[in-house]
Amino acid sequence: MLPAEYGGGGLSNVDFVIAAEEIQAVDPGFGTTVLVNGLGLMPVWYYGTEEQKKRFIGSATADESGEFLVGYAASEPPGTPGGTANFDAPAIDGAGMHVTARLDGDEYVINGRKYWPCNVGGWDNKGANLNLVVVRTGSESGGTAGLSAIMVERGTPGITYRSISTSAQRSAPNCEIVFEDARVPASNLIEGTKGNGDLVINRNFAWSGPVAGIGAVAVARSAYEDALRWAKTYTGGGPKPIIHYQYPGYVLGDVATKIEAARYFCWKSAHYLDQHGYHGEMLGAMCKVHCTEMLFDCVYKCMQVVGVNSVDKKQRFDRYLREAALLPLYDAGNFGMQRRRVHGVMVDEGFNPRAFMDDEPVDFTKDMEGIDTIPGPKTDEPTIPSPQTAEPFAVR
Ligand SMILES: Cc1cc2nc3c(=O)[nH]c(=O)nc-3n(C[C@H](O)[C@H](O)[C@H](O)COP(=O)(O)OP(=O)(O)OC[C@H]3O[C@@H](n4cnc5c(N)ncnc54)[C@H](O)[C@@H]3O)c2cc1C
Repeated sequence: MLPAEYGGGGLSNVDFVIAAEEIQAVDPGFGTTVLVNGLGLMPVWYYGTEEQKKRFIGSATADESGEFLVGYAASEPPGTPGGTANFDAPAIDGAGMHVTARLDGDEYVINGRKYWPCNVGGWDNKGANLNLVVVRTGSESGGTAGLSAIMVERGTPGITYRSISTSAQRSAPNCEIVFEDARVPASNLIEGTKGNGDLVINRNFAWSGPVAGIGAVAVARSAYEDALRWAKTYTGGGPKPIIHYQYPGYVLGDVATKIEAARYFCWKSAHYLDQHGYHGEMLGAMCKVHCTEMLFDCVYKCMQVVGVNSVDKKQRFDRYLREAALLPLYDAGNFGMQRRRVHGVMVDEGFNPRAFMDDEPVDFTKDMEGIDTIPGPKTDEPTIPSPQTAEPFAVR
């Protein structure tokens, strides 16, 4: 996925999405691990200086061990204020993104906590080779002006990583990161991201939209193929396998239709990114939302065809169900981060509703951000306890 001019494979987005379907049909978690390398490095290509591109992308592509790992750390722990969904809230220090980077001489001093980022701990929880971290560099600015992205290298003192145990995509290594006066050279701040960390987040999740979308296609495809195989072999004691009955035939036909349509949407979105300089902030979000939200319906319909035996852990439907619950939530939640991007573009006076049909560019600007966010002004009033510190619900 990385650009050929810096030693990468130079795949088009369409090629990458086709490959991503095959990986994610087997293991969506591993697909995420692969994808996140791009979330960490593509912004260097978009926004970095020539020196930064050679240093960071070049070090990844020069690796011959196959172990080089890159993380992308945007997400933050839950709480009030907290979470990630309101990262572009315009209020000063309003919400989201509380990891700070303060310039001290020729170094940035990083403090705070990230929660959820994948790959960041590396293979041994001592840090990935490189981690692109979204930080608040402007404490007096809101989320559309005060964020930046800085590269943190493995071995930087003052950083600890702890694994998070998840209920889906368990092979994707999610981590909590704690920064305690971690010092990073000022030259690691990706030049064009100064005050533009918001655009980094939106562009990253536009690029990964069709990759997450094809993940949903891949899981739906696996569930459908399992259910079809079952329907073609299971007779239930009748004269023929159940595929010959109308209900399983129609339901599986509907599932196959949804999968095909979603796959073409991902290919179209990837092609649009290829045509428009890796911009597709609105279409990428539409693709991610649509494809990941058709998945649950497909898995559930496949389970109806298989019947009670789909609940037997010998089958793989419990895993498909867990993936179906996760995909709309990860890679920027569909509510908040993804739908907001669509909404923000759509309200713009100049929005052309036929742009995607006609393969026209659709600009994405800062004034399209922040719509729908919770402003969350700074207050001295006591905050509501975060889910982590609140007393658990009483058991009656
Ligand atoms: C397998 C996996 C891999 C991941 N990899 C990474 C990674 O590599 N890097 C990384 O940074 N993160 C990663 N994440 C985190 C992921 O990107 C989340 O989508 C992100 O943290 C945002 O979560 P959220 O949308 O639930 O936001 P939260 O802020 O946690 O929001 C919680 C809920 O409140 C809602 N909400 C809050 N405010 C609003 C609003 N204004 N409007 C509407 N709804 C609102 C949200 O929609 C959501 O339903 C990963 C997560 C998983 C599970």
